[in-house]
Amino acid sequence: MRIVALAGGIGGARFLRGLQAAAPAADITVIGNTGDDISLFGLRVCPDLDTVMYTLGGGINEEQGWGRAAETFTLKEELGAYGVGPGWFGLGDRDFATHIVRTQMLAAGYPLSAVTEALCDRWKPGVRLIPMSDDQVETHVVVDDPEQGRRAVHFQEWWVRLRASLPARSIAAVGADDAAPAPGVLAAIADADVVLFPPSNPVVSVGTILSVPGIRDAVAAKTVVGVSPIIGGAPVRGMADACLTAIGVETSARAVAEHYGSDLLDGWLVDEADEGVRAEGVEVRSRPLLMSDPEATAAIARAALDLALELRERHGAGAGVDDTAGDGA
Ligand code: GDP
Ligand code: CA
Repeated sequence: MRIVALAGGIGGARFLRGLQAAAPAADITVIGNTGDDISLFGLRVCPDLDTVMYTLGGGINEEQGWGRAAETFTLKEELGAYGVGPGWFGLGDRDFATHIVRTQMLAAGYPLSAVTEALCDRWKPGVRLIPMSDDQVETHVVVDDPEQGRRAVHFQEWWVRLRASLPARSIAAVGADDAAPAPGVLAAIADADVVLFPPSNPVVSVGTILSVPGIRDAVAAKTVVGVSPIIGGAPVRGMADACLTAIGVETSARAVAEHYGSDLLDGWLVDEADEGVRAEGVEVRSRPLLMSDPEATAAIARAALDLALELRERHGAGAGVDDTAGDGA
């Protein structure tokens, strides 16, 4: 069975680990968000790609959800001693090595997709991880700064430094209009039996991936099931509500499903707290959606996959799924 998932960082990576447990024999391609990417200290940092790579490769700081396990911060302290910032973005010594390798390869002319593949040679995440695009796309947020007035800041500055404390007037994926999907992205979607949206941020993770020309249409042609990142009218963690508000979408499981739309979404998993929620043209199922431990997370992934296969069957495309998930389910 071939599965494509569109993933951001923590929410995406945790779901993917559950998906691997639920369907160990499945061929999984992950299309990663690169809108959060940022250049710091002359190095190219790709937070979402790295979170997926480290989580699935066994190198993640489990408590934090991002960054490396057993990390030290000597380099950051030394940079600080020179007065060189930013100090608000946590880059550890081990993590720095990843960004040095990436930057060196990019400078030598390799596209980000090839760099990501090379980094994954070490981490062996067990999925094919492809950035949404080799072209630079940066999520910018327009805020009303009390000191500097209305200005656009890089997503990381808004999210990490400001903790989304200044309301976003608008959010834009700068460069997306002229970006092309990375090699392999459209083919993976076309070849997929089903496409899954993990409970990643619908605006700045999944939404950014869908904003790359060609990806949305390719996904819309498939059977797509999403997992709601919103439970009982609030994000489970993080500040997704601030992103939804910025684009005029209510923070609710229903509103997020309708924002994706029935042209894109065939099925939508909501938490038991949202039982009874309906979304026009979308098959909604409720079940526990807290990724509290590996078993609970695998059960969520299994439910998303089962719903997708059921809907695929119903739409008459079910013949020929090589269901070698190997879990006996
Ligand atoms: P990313 O978008 O994948 O980079 O990940 P974030 O860490 O920013 O989180 C994205 C979304 O995942 C947030 O809106 C959270 O509400 C949601 N989320 C985090 N943990 C869980 C969980 O256990 N269950 C569900 N359903 N959503 C979660
Ligand atoms: Ca992210």
